[in-house]
Amino acid sequence: MSRAHNFSAGPAALPETVLQQAQAEMLEWHGAGASIVELSHRGPEFIQVAAEAEADLRKLLSIPDSYAVLFLGGGATTVQALLPLNFAAPGQAADYVVTGHWGKTALKQVKPYVAANVAASSEAEGFRDIPARDTWGLSKDAAYVHYTANETIHGVEFRDIPDVGDIPLFGDFSSSIASEPLDVSKFGVIYAGAQKNLGPVGITVVIIRRDLLERAGQPRAEILDYRAHAKGESMLNTPPSWNWYLLGLTVKWMLAEGGVEEFARRSARKSTLLYDVIDNSGGFYRNEVAKAARSRMNVPFFLHDEALDKPFLKEAGAAGLISLKGHRALGGMRASIYNAMPEAGVQALADFMRDFQQRNG
Ligand SMILES: *Cc1c(COP(=O)(O)O)cnc(C)c1O
Repeated sequence: MSRAHNFSAGPAALPETVLQQAQAEMLEWHGAGASIVELSHRGPEFIQVAAEAEADLRKLLSIPDSYAVLFLGGGATTVQALLPLNFAAPGQAADYVVTGHWGKTALKQVKPYVAANVAASSEAEGFRDIPARDTWGLSKDAAYVHYTANETIHGVEFRDIPDVGDIPLFGDFSSSIASEPLDVSKFGVIYAGAQKNLGPVGITVVIIRRDLLERAGQPRAEILDYRAHAKGESMLNTPPSWNWYLLGLTVKWMLAEGGVEEFARRSARKSTLLYDVIDNSGGFYRNEVAKAARSRMNVPFFLHDEALDKPFLKEAGAAGLISLKGHRALGGMRASIYNAMPEAGVQALADFMRDFQQRNG
């Protein structure tokens, strides 16, 4: 077996010890006579797994009791469509700040339901920066303001929580949750598909300030209703139990590694290593994002000559560095360096990049 350093943007690398534990418990979970994925989600075994995952996640992210935490299927995209149904009255405006591909996706999902207002967008400039807060055109009676904390494809990350006054702030943290301390109390909703930084694909975490669950929203079936999900402890129907279990193992690993403060330090070191190689390459490599808005999680970069893309990927793969091809929307390369990516992996990539430049520059 040879596991490479995997820079996939999502589904992304999981900590090796998590995979090993899941492997060891695959056939029989803790003397239960069956795998956890073969047991009822209402049985004592899975209830324990689910409760521990929630308690651990609350601890990891310092989530106050005044927030509900939901574990649901459907991915972050489904959350984007359900936000207006749950939190905006018919006809009410909702404000969107668009700083990349996922902000646009979020906007697309809500258009059938609300009068979505683009409060700010950096699209005309190619999503290379974050529009200054004082240029945002917020609606007076918006149901909420939505933004994408880290744009996974464009590599643009907010380094501060935007101040939007009394309007509830909704943040898509799919690709940066648990990468640094976060004041949850500043938010109405925080959500994240797990497959970037929290565990496996197939489960999504939605953190909701409880008072917002009392909003009437729009007519919707119970299964699309977050209040019902909160009341039913994310088990209105069969939850993605295997994914929930893997998420729980991943969160336990993050706590054991030192929690979000430690991952903030590692993320700063890892991203600096790559941006330094890029910035010191004399134009051989290029990242086009404004420095203050550069992502610590996803580092997109281009080679000065597109003809080098193929050899770069091929030689990187041979050196045990995989999944570096950029998103098709942007081209070039992208190194996703979430919590599970060890610093040694990023160092190996930085060394490879310098060596590749030396041989091809
Ligand atoms: C991956 C991603 C999404 C989409 O997640 P799905 O689980 O595929 O729906 C949304 N927002 C951000 C920031 C992402 O990185």
